[in-house]
Amino acid sequence: MKELEGKKLYVLDMDGTIYLGGSLFPETIPFLERVKAHGKRYIFFTNNSSRSPRTYVERLNRMGIAAERKDVVTSGDVMIHFLKTHRRGKSVYLLGTPDLEESFREEGIPLTKEKPDIVLLGFDTTLTYEKLDRACHYIRNGAEFLCTHEDLNCPTEYGFMPDAGAMCALITASTGVKPRYTGKPHKEVLEILEAKTGVPRDQMVAVGDRLYTDIALGTHNQVASVLVLSGETTLEDLKKSDVHPTCVVSNIGELER
Ligand SMILES: [Mg+2]
Repeated sequence: MKELEGKKLYVLDMDGTIYLGGSLFPETIPFLERVKAHGKRYIFFTNNSSRSPRTYVERLNRMGIAAERKDVVTSGDVMIHFLKTHRRGKSVYLLGTPDLEESFREEGIPLTKEKPDIVLLGFDTTLTYEKLDRACHYIRNGAEFLCTHEDLNCPTEYGFMPDAGAMCALITASTGVKPRYTGKPHKEVLEILEAKTGVPRDQMVAVGDRLYTDIALGTHNQVASVLVLSGETTLEDLKKSDVHPTCVVSNIGELER
């Protein structure tokens, strides 16, 4: 594809892009093999911060993809990188799953339940009223409000479940404070990808099925983007959207031909 000439790194969304629910698309492994054969690279990126990167590595391995920890980045990783580079030493009250909490501890982020500098929300499938109450109290008292990603809903086998953006909306309704988000489509994603891979952003291609995260990562940051129609976005949605990808393909199998 002419628009993607000179690109070196594919930043691949997962659900709706390389698989749907539990089933890998038949085009995925041949595509990954072509990328490697052409001397290029790929990295798997998900905005889902409820599961650890290791969980995704295991899932990919079960599907027959030879991924390692270094090949997977989550919005939890992005936030940890952001805290270590821009908020070093600040204490954090975390609303997150035990998996996310473990990742923060492993990276030495100071977690506290009292008087935090920062209230940080991930996709917390273990959220309770007590956590919400504390979070709102600390934010009202001046703590910075951060969130790993702004997705409002997460796709499941039975439809959608409320995601981190929807949880933040509740806190915003109570406090009047909006969070700063760092996952897709924000520039902090590109900062960690450049740091991890050494590939500059003008040589990256963001690939995904969701306009306001996957494709906006490209359009907001002068990075090439490819919309795949194998997930949640239809051509009708694209016509109505003001987010315009560099290219549109029916599925990932059309790339690197
Ligand atoms: Mg997706």
